[in-house]
Amino acid sequence: MTLKEAQTEFTHRLDVFKREMERRGRGFQWGERFRSMARQGELYAQGRTTPGPIVTKAKPGQSAHNFRLGQDIIPMLDGHRCLGAKLQRVGYWNDVREASRLAELTWGGNWRMRDYLHLELPDWKLDSAVRPTRPR
Ligand SMILES: [Zn+2]
Repeated sequence: MTLKEAQTEFTHRLDVFKREMERRGRGFQWGERFRSMARQGELYAQGRTTPGPIVTKAKPGQSAHNFRLGQDIIPMLDGHRCLGAKLQRVGYWNDVREASRLAELTWGGNWRMRDYLHLELPDWKLDSAVRPTRPR
């Protein structure tokens, strides 16, 4: 699969995810998809060589976002953006887990270093078309 084909497949699976979330009555907005290598470098530096908490363990070229194969979501409850414990209480993450499974997406909420807002194409790193590239 070329990178372009992988991106198309990912977009298709995100559509399936969106429809399933709608079917379950769960609202969300799309967050970040593409992240440049330079931006990834800034995020990786945070908490290591620059101030702030550590937010990622991915260096430039190690995040699915660098290849448009990752997508963040912004949960909505009652028409408002929502982050925090309430999502857990109302079972929101269970629906994200099930919808991502149905859409054959990897969900960051299943990771050891949890990233509840993150979806990506499974096994994207195995694709030979995906290699770290220099920022233009
Ligand atoms: Zn993400």
